[in-house]
Amino acid sequence: MCGIVAYLGQKDAYPILLKGLYRLEYRGYDSAGVALMQESGIKMFKKKGRVEELQKFCENLDTSGTLGIAHTRWATHGEPNEQNAHPHVSEDGSMALIHNGIVENYVVLKQQLVNQGVAFKSETDTEVLVHLIKSVQDKEGIPLPEAVTIALRMVEGTYALAIISTENPDQLIVAKKGSPLLVGIGDNEYFIGSDGAPIVEYTKQVVYLEDGDVGVISRDKPLRISNVNDSERLPKSPYIQTLELSLEQLEKGGFDTYMLKEIYEQPKAVRDSMRGRINLEKDVVSLGGIIEYEQKMLNARRFIIVACGTSWHSGLIAEHLFETLVRIPVEVEYASEFRYRNPIIYEDDVLIAISQSGETADTLAAVEIGKKRGATVIGICNVVGSTMARETMAGSYSHAGPEIGVACTKTFTAQITVLALMALSLAKKKGTIPMSLYHKLLNDLETAPEKIESVLRQEQKIQRIAQYVATKQNAMFLGRGVSFPVALEGALKLKEISYIHAEGYPAAEIKHGPIALIDTNMPVIVVAPEQHIYDKVVSNIQEIIARKGTIISIVNEGDTTVSGMSKFTIEVPGIDELLTPLVTTIPLQLLSYHVALIRDCDVDKPRNLAKSVSVE
Ligand code: GLU
Repeated sequence: MCGIVAYLGQKDAYPILLKGLYRLEYRGYDSAGVALMQESGIKMFKKKGRVEELQKFCENLDTSGTLGIAHTRWATHGEPNEQNAHPHVSEDGSMALIHNGIVENYVVLKQQLVNQGVAFKSETDTEVLVHLIKSVQDKEGIPLPEAVTIALRMVEGTYALAIISTENPDQLIVAKKGSPLLVGIGDNEYFIGSDGAPIVEYTKQVVYLEDGDVGVISRDKPLRISNVNDSERLPKSPYIQTLELSLEQLEKGGFDTYMLKEIYEQPKAVRDSMRGRINLEKDVVSLGGIIEYEQKMLNARRFIIVACGTSWHSGLIAEHLFETLVRIPVEVEYASEFRYRNPIIYEDDVLIAISQSGETADTLAAVEIGKKRGATVIGICNVVGSTMARETMAGSYSHAGPEIGVACTKTFTAQITVLALMALSLAKKKGTIPMSLYHKLLNDLETAPEKIESVLRQEQKIQRIAQYVATKQNAMFLGRGVSFPVALEGALKLKEISYIHAEGYPAAEIKHGPIALIDTNMPVIVVAPEQHIYDKVVSNIQEIIARKGTIISIVNEGDTTVSGMSKFTIEVPGIDELLTPLVTTIPLQLLSYHVALIRDCDVDKPRNLAKSVSVE
């Protein structure tokens, strides 16, 4: 979370920084700030709230300077206000710093600095860093890059940093541990970003910093990188890669919001996630990224899936896919719980980590645990070149294209597609799938994009249902089998963008408690496509109707039983039970979207959230 952008070159930095902040705003929008190197020293501009506020504030001010750093914050320590907004400066104003991450030992460090007489101005953990670096530099009388290295050796936690100092007004220092940071290399100019979004317009040549790297960027000089763990600070040769991102992918393309655009991109996202991976003539599914480790996967004692949020829901769907088709036991874990539980991991376990951004701090920590304990670690993520892509042994991209809306939509359906392909490829090799089912599933995957399109055509109808749901304070989402994770995802979507409290439950579980919540005011959204337990779901619905709950159902085209019991029904085309989440999820996304619009919520940037959860 939180976006970092910086520039050093010949052009005015401010317009580049501002545009970059807008592109990174999805990572956090509690406050925004800029520091520019000017002849008179460092000039700072900070504002609580959105980047727009900062832009308005700066309108008639002197924002000149060809070196600058900028930040959009997702607060971890200290209220979202102007004082806590980044950049943070040294007491004499000679150094400014922006930070993404958490300084875990900030209390101890702060106390030491306070004892030395430093007066803190904010409640953030970040401010410790600027004073610590300054104090090291003053004590040792060394140049800034060295002081940064020494100071960072004392820091526990995670950081992506960009620092400027009047000591050398032509120098920008960057550092990374646990939070992402890229250096874009242009023609006599450098662009820094938390991801490629603020860089891609100017250059596609990028260097992904590695953990512990400190980069020194000087005007007209090549980038110099060393690592804090190298006591001699020997220079590393930067590995320059091509950024796989285009500007068009970052624009709204005629839609009012990113979220709606991304909902509508799902037929393409699902198609793209299959592209080149299915060869119908040869009858094979092959995921290039995991070929080397496929044998390990086939011999796995167990799959442990680790993920957070929507990706965790994909994991629950994968549990059905893998257990049914590959007949290997699956455990699905919240990465944040798994990492602190001293889990039992065997060397013949395969840990599958799922993350949209590939930067989810908790999931990355779970990846490390898996690797340390000798398991095979596979990653599934959407962002090419992300930390997860680099830290796992093998993996598959979901290839959904950049997702800017904070609430995940197309990356969810793309993840499910990749997981289905993975299960099919393994099942065929293991001989655990009847060929008739294999072909049916392949065929259903191939036709899923058209089926998604037909659900999207029902937007107007869903809009009408949203009018009803938008008046409620609560909602319940139910499903069974593979539709249970879909219910969870539906509830999550509604919560995160419309702020209506929603619960997702396995339909049969509600009689163990939540049924007490049912009354005429409780909309119950039931995901009830044709499934082997369809009749059981029908009974569960009866139990709700008996308590005067209002049923909104997602059913297959032509359904009469559940739809006959529902106040509203949305029909989806038939598809194999295991793949129903690809179609049943779509109406739930549209429903939440329209409820949020009716309630006047900012769907792309829901309150308190950020897209890439790179802090734990
Ligand atoms: N911990 C810092 C703060 O609260 C940075 C937060 C972040 O990376 O999102 O200001």
